Amino acid sequence: MALVVQKFGGSSVSDADAMLRVAKRIVTLKRAGHQVVVVVSAMGDTTDDLLDLAARLTSNAPEREMDILLSAGERISMSLLAMAINELGEPAQSYTGAQAGIHTDSRYGRASIVGMVPERVARAIQDGQVAIVAGFQGVSDDNDVTTLGRGGSDTTAVALAAALHADVCEIFTDVDGLFTADPRIVPNARRVRTLGYEETLEMAAHGAKILHLRAVEFARRYGVPLHVRSSFSEKEGTWISNTTANPALEGIVPEAALTYMKEESVEAPIISGIAHDRSQDKITIVNVPDRPGVAAKIFSTVAEAGANIDMIVQNISHTDSGVTDISFTLPAADGAATLEALKEIQPQLGFTKLQYKDNIGKLSLVGAGMRTNPGVSAKLFESLSAAGVNIDMISTSEIRISVVVDLDDLDKAVRAVHTAFGLDAADSEAVVYGGTGR
Ligand code: ASP
Ligand code: MG
Repeated sequence: MALVVQKFGGSSVSDADAMLRVAKRIVTLKRAGHQVVVVVSAMGDTTDDLLDLAARLTSNAPEREMDILLSAGERISMSLLAMAINELGEPAQSYTGAQAGIHTDSRYGRASIVGMVPERVARAIQDGQVAIVAGFQGVSDDNDVTTLGRGGSDTTAVALAAALHADVCEIFTDVDGLFTADPRIVPNARRVRTLGYEETLEMAAHGAKILHLRAVEFARRYGVPLHVRSSFSEKEGTWISNTTANPALEGIVPEAALTYMKEESVEAPIISGIAHDRSQDKITIVNVPDRPGVAAKIFSTVAEAGANIDMIVQNISHTDSGVTDISFTLPAADGAATLEALKEIQPQLGFTKLQYKDNIGKLSLVGAGMRTNPGVSAKLFESLSAAGVNIDMISTSEIRISVVVDLDDLDKAVRAVHTAFGLDAADSEAVVYGGTGR
């Protein structure tokens, strides 16, 4: 017997039929003798619809009310799913984040989990119930409802799996797992069979939208094996884990998967995949005096404006003039506030102008094998140049190389790099069953 946490995204429970399909899947697993905890997202586009509704009443909604509103989406789906399972003859009960003991800080809209006390959930599964938990929400010390940020149900699921010492956390979505690139850009992308936590983190942090970043961080910290797969097929998905096979999973996961999990650490492929990100913009500060303390002033100002910057490039000084240019990328959403803050320090720092570029895209090549393969960056740059793509900025980590290119060149760049690294599959493997990619 295994304890399995299954998370179903919004596209997997978008209407009553979809809900019933998911309910049957859960019942089958339960009847095979396993303990099942389910985390569910809001149905379809419910969260967006709730946001739109609020926006028609106010442009300045109190954050506390916003979180109560948004948490309702998951409460609708959890109770309906519990009803569907009961109707199929298995006992099931649903729990809000608070009832499931998910304690958070009180940063509405982006709360972090600070403690997990899922004893009601533990009792329910002991009693033979299926426990259904609302994703994406918790409760603060003040007893207020909080939400964990868009896509946060993944994090709920992994946190529960960690707290309950589950054998596996299965993340059900509308694609068959993680791919070597977004199948919408690269139709012959391959499904990745297994991926380490580090590579998954890099992929998620640099634009791969399939998993919530904090969920991966949790999984890594507590060693929770993840299985990302489609709720629309029985196919095996992508295993994210550093552990070896767990005998409790026999009968739940295909035999072959247990073998991959055993073999996984033996020899990781050089490249895991390519992530891309269209959500960043670039600011260039022109003619910045080149003296100590200036960069410190600039980036403390940027940080105070709330922007999380990604790449920074400082050009060499313009000869003799004692000035230089500094460029950095940041989330487009933080652009306006950051420009405003920089304008305020312009008189003090004496740079001549600020340039803003919103049509940039970032490509990130991720793979553990990179540390030991010096040829990787050369191959990356060669493939981009052969495709006629100009590189604007470069940054690297031990297992990632990212480049900023013109937004118009991004898709072409992703395809060229995918081919250059031999990642193309013979046929197209990817099917997007739902449409939202979650
Ligand atoms: N329903 C929330 C959202 O749409 C949380 C989630 O789906 O994970 O962002
Ligand atoms: Mg942009």
